[in-house]
Amino acid sequence: MSREVTTIALQEDSPGQQHSLQVHRFTGKDRSAGKVFIQAALHADEIPAHMAVHHLLRQLIDLDEQGKINGEIIVLPYANPIGLGQYIEETHLGRYHLPGGGNFNRNWPDLAELSLPLVKDKLGTDAETNVETIRAAMRQVLNDWQTVGGWQHLRKEILTLACDADVVLDVHCDDESLIHLFIAPQHWPQLSDLSAAIKSRATMMAEDSGGGSFDEACSYPWVKFAKAFPECNIPPVCEAATVELRGRPDVYDALGEEDAEGLLTFLSGRGFISGRESSLPKPLCDATDLRTCDIVRSPGAGVLAYKVKPGDTVSKGQVVAELIDIASPDPRDARIEIKSINDGLVISTSQNKLVRPGYSIAKINGTEILESRSGYLLED
Ligand SMILES: [Zn+2]
Repeated sequence: MSREVTTIALQEDSPGQQHSLQVHRFTGKDRSAGKVFIQAALHADEIPAHMAVHHLLRQLIDLDEQGKINGEIIVLPYANPIGLGQYIEETHLGRYHLPGGGNFNRNWPDLAELSLPLVKDKLGTDAETNVETIRAAMRQVLNDWQTVGGWQHLRKEILTLACDADVVLDVHCDDESLIHLFIAPQHWPQLSDLSAAIKSRATMMAEDSGGGSFDEACSYPWVKFAKAFPECNIPPVCEAATVELRGRPDVYDALGEEDAEGLLTFLSGRGFISGRESSLPKPLCDATDLRTCDIVRSPGAGVLAYKVKPGDTVSKGQVVAELIDIASPDPRDARIEIKSINDGLVISTSQNKLVRPGYSIAKINGTEILESRSGYLLED
């Protein structure tokens, strides 16, 4: 058996309030499989991620006891203990850091920029040496980071565990949603195995979505280094993905087991697990540019009456929802139609039917790149 469970105490933000991060590390005999990092619910209110990783972890412990783990597998069953504890009355608020640190999955440190001064004179044409040099620099930069407060400390600890992994799976969920995946274009079609294994209905690619998300904090530095040093051989060695496991209400053992099975199938195919019967299911989608996915936003305030649901296909001009202005003196004249600007698949809708102007109410993934999609490509 090779499982080690450690608890990292985070810096206190207020006297007597101590958060801690739990890390499960499996170390197999055959290290050639590499390293995979998996975390659940960086957005702490995305409970399907907790459920799936709970089932994954149970299975990994059994497989470890049978000596079937290869390489190094790191699993965080809850990535965000700070967000887990954020309640106002009985409402859990796990997407944003309430004391002011912003969205938990935005503005992660740019490891390329931070480690560049340490590596710029050391890179050559040997890919393996470059990878080791860059990974050592990233670890150094993170080690030297003098964090302030629990949230910065948490980011330092997580990124230190993930930055030198070959595969990073950041497990989230959407609102009301199909399973979907965000990856970098540099990792397609390699990650078609993950897309098929988890039964992704939309696999969307962007090398830089503009938001500094965690997956990009792991994968994008390699792209930036390769662009900064075209004469050197710097491969995109960190295959990172944001895995969106359905919608917030989809928290059931059966779904968690199915999602864990998908992740295990992927890990088996990559050699992290041996002697386990699992074949890759038929892929349910091809990968598309993230700019083909429209984020439909509410033009005003009111109550939504949806005309579509996740899984529906829509045509350009089709009504996605009607926005009801409940303050209108005449309810017969209180509805505005919100229409799709593309032909595509409805990936997600909103659980919250009371919206404000500009709120995201649906994601519709088509096949054509939309002119309206440039710069910042994420939801919020
Ligand atoms: Zn999320």
